[in-house]
Amino acid sequence: MKDFNPADNIQDLQYFGEFGGVNPSISDSSTYTFLSAKTMFDTFEGNAEGCYLYSRHSSPSNLYLGQALAAMEGTEAANVAASGMGAITPVLLQICAAGDHIVSSRTIYGGTYAFMKNFMPKLQIKTSFVDITKLDVVEAAITPTTKILYCETVSNPLLEVADIAGLAKIAKKHNIKLVVDNTFSPLSVAPAKMGADVVIHSLTKYINGSSDTVAGVTCGTQEFIDSLRNVNDGASMLLGPTMDSLRSASVLKNLRTLHIRMKQHSYNALYLAERFEKDGLKTVYPGLKSHPSHELYKGMINPEYGFGGMMTIDVGTLEKANELMELMQQRNLGYLAVSLGFYKTLFSAPGTSTSSEIPLDEQKEMGLTDGLIRFSIGLDNDAERTYTMMKACMVELGILAK
Ligand SMILES: *Cc1c(COP(=O)(O)O)cnc(C)c1O
Repeated sequence: MKDFNPADNIQDLQYFGEFGGVNPSISDSSTYTFLSAKTMFDTFEGNAEGCYLYSRHSSPSNLYLGQALAAMEGTEAANVAASGMGAITPVLLQICAAGDHIVSSRTIYGGTYAFMKNFMPKLQIKTSFVDITKLDVVEAAITPTTKILYCETVSNPLLEVADIAGLAKIAKKHNIKLVVDNTFSPLSVAPAKMGADVVIHSLTKYINGSSDTVAGVTCGTQEFIDSLRNVNDGASMLLGPTMDSLRSASVLKNLRTLHIRMKQHSYNALYLAERFEKDGLKTVYPGLKSHPSHELYKGMINPEYGFGGMMTIDVGTLEKANELMELMQQRNLGYLAVSLGFYKTLFSAPGTSTSSEIPLDEQKEMGLTDGLIRFSIGLDNDAERTYTMMKACMVELGILAK
């Protein structure tokens, strides 16, 4: 992946605002005028390149952001959405029809899991949930009606790594689409470059990075993105998860510092993970040699952006986890909150929050334990200072010896 640097691709885009502004002008309109009635007809038919019709279909601001994210993922095109789920659900519904089948990783975002498990069966679309790290198990789950192989590059919350190149090979062989949620690893991993057909992000997390909005994107071929936006049968166009132009412009501005932020998130997370592991805590971080997919992931990432900002620590029981999170919040080490990718560290116990959609017995089977705390490590300036303060909390609660 040496010849592909997503941050350079974003930097190489040049935009000018309407009055020569250094930021593109925000398109503050839901509808657009036409000088000729014929052009309006052609636009409806999809034959008037560069013409805007109605902002649920597309808007200049959304196209600017989509273009930047397509450059980041190395795909032909991208379509932004009002949330990550607003990107994910139309992709699944666009590709699958009644009677079709999905093979999905069992450790995925709770909302995606709930949609596949509880909602899609109403449309006669069934999902088999598998251990995505076992390629033979994945392939064995594929049936003649399977249309999608679905995974997250780094899974939420267990931080399992999907072998995207290996999964792409299986998908090609069976002529199904590999759809990858790359939310945890922007810039670090470029799934489309490893053979993924569709790459999705919740922009809510690292890419926007300021925890002030929900947003999403779907990156893929021009043909697939056009199909999502088709006025007659496009799931994004017809379900209507449209991002507002004002918000789109704001996400684009935040995207410009993503490479700097990812480096700091990764630096801090590796620093803390190494120390807490040494202290004897059960620490999971893809940058640790003890991570079962460390070598695989090392070969997948662009090393400049590191192993990412997500880590988990198991402190034994839910009570201890709750006590520790409350104390760390009191000491201003971060917030007891779901979500990720903020400047400040965020922590939560996934079993009782973001993964609570997953039934308890299934949580147990996949290794999601009660005492697990998921950390989204922030942009703290001094990782050593943060470590010392976090450790003091753990010592105080008897989680670590002095
Ligand atoms: C948050 C998240 C989503 C959902 O995104 P929203 O913006 O909350 O709709 C999907 N996938 C992953 C991995 C996430 O972390």
